[in-house]
Amino acid sequence: MKNTTPETTEEKPLEQVEREVRERLEEWLTRTPYSFNPEASVVKTIIRGIAIRKIKAGDEYCPCRVLSGDLREDSKIVCPCVYSKDEIENDGICLCHLFVGPNYKSG
Ligand code: SF4
Repeated sequence: MKNTTPETTEEKPLEQVEREVRERLEEWLTRTPYSFNPEASVVKTIIRGIAIRKIKAGDEYCPCRVLSGDLREDSKIVCPCVYSKDEIENDGICLCHLFVGPNYKSG
């Protein structure tokens, strides 16, 4: 028998983890000049990828980056990753296309 309680992440349905990821990132966005990509389908796909990583790898890791297995190193790619600020400021968008900055131009 699995030694888990209903509160543990692996017991939560994917949709619930997705909701929690989205809520946390929405809250983070209120403290930044950034926003979600205006393409809702992109946001949905990336949030799903983050939620899957949370379930399978234990934290809300970037779905577009490779995990090293070193917890300290991998903490850099918990979304929003440490690289996102530079990416958004330089390109208007983060690597995964989840967040855009005021300088973002679609198309
Ligand atoms: S690239 Fe974007 S989606 Fe991926 S962790 Fe960084 S901020 Fe999050």
